[in-house]
Amino acid sequence: MIPRLGEEEAQAAADAVRSGWVAQGPRVARFEQEFAASVGAGHGVAVSSCTTALHLALVVLDVGPGDEVIVPSFSFIATANAVRYVGATPVFADVDLTTGNVTVASVDAVRTPRTRAVIAVHQGGVPFDVAALREAGSRWGVPLIEDAACAAGSTAYGQPVGAGSTISAWSFHPRKLLTTGEGGMVTTDDPAWAARLRQLREHGMNVSAADRHASAQPVLESYLETAFNYRMTDIQAAIGLVQLSRLAELVTHRRALAARYHDLLATVEGLVPVHDPAYGETNYQSFWVLINRKYGVGRDEVLAELAAAGVSARRGIMAAHLEPAYADVTPGPLPVTERLTRDSLILPLHHALTEDDQDHIVGVLRKLAG
Ligand SMILES: *Cc1c(COP(=O)(O)O)cnc(C)c1O
Repeated sequence: MIPRLGEEEAQAAADAVRSGWVAQGPRVARFEQEFAASVGAGHGVAVSSCTTALHLALVVLDVGPGDEVIVPSFSFIATANAVRYVGATPVFADVDLTTGNVTVASVDAVRTPRTRAVIAVHQGGVPFDVAALREAGSRWGVPLIEDAACAAGSTAYGQPVGAGSTISAWSFHPRKLLTTGEGGMVTTDDPAWAARLRQLREHGMNVSAADRHASAQPVLESYLETAFNYRMTDIQAAIGLVQLSRLAELVTHRRALAARYHDLLATVEGLVPVHDPAYGETNYQSFWVLINRKYGVGRDEVLAELAAAGVSARRGIMAAHLEPAYADVTPGPLPVTERLTRDSLILPLHHALTEDDQDHIVGVLRKLAG
């Protein structure tokens, strides 16, 4: 993923520097409002990354030692790590082969009386079935945290991912569609949670530094709980505001490139590209392709052949339970996760990709086909 950063972003960052306000300030506040509005959430609380956003979401839900949190193993490792930050135990659920996402059935299969929360991921931008999982979560009395790191600009049931969510975590890392260098956001409709999140990201202070500076009277802050420094800077937010204004156009372009990949790949037997689920639209953050037995060549060989042809494809999404950091965990069977992580790869899809590039890439894949 090559981030689309231009002169406007450079100018906005320079303006923030010249304003003299570089830490969390007015630009962060504006970015929070505009981002939350764009994803249909009542409140946005900007933080330093999606990893810290997930951490704070678990703190707000009061998840801690002795609790289990169900997560997909098929995700970037930060999803599972956040559970460990609060001393809870990640329990891995398998995913659906076509969406790469957990389902009501796969979560239910690993649910226990100790389950205190579920973190479902909109993997690679493909929305999970929000209606089904949110309904099941309420029925079980288990809150649903949405890892929407990849899902800015994706939709489900005609609404942006984020709308109607209890609590969602977003990423603005350069690998994602909308970047601020590093950065993240928590969105929620609950004003009390939003207030607590603001406190948690800023050392547990009862008044923000921005409010303190804005006040004509001296404000004596106090520290209400042991918390964190997970703030975003105004320089980052300035870049984010420009990026946000381009998001819709960026998603439209990516979906057009993805549609062209679909057309070209339709005639290559044994390759199954990711596509929209029935209930929503992906932003194609990751354009992954599953390699079937019919294809005749294994994933790593395909990656090597693409690299030899000058194409930098990547392995598919990782599985946390296969990493050394989780060697002490013995999960139940995760056959779909293991198949997807072993047999899929991610094709280049970025703003600078040309039709010639796509023809070249698919040409290599066609030649390798069984
Ligand atoms: C990228 C990503 C994260 C971590 O985001 P950071 O902002 O880099 O902390 C978490 N979850 C998923 C699904 C991701 O893709």
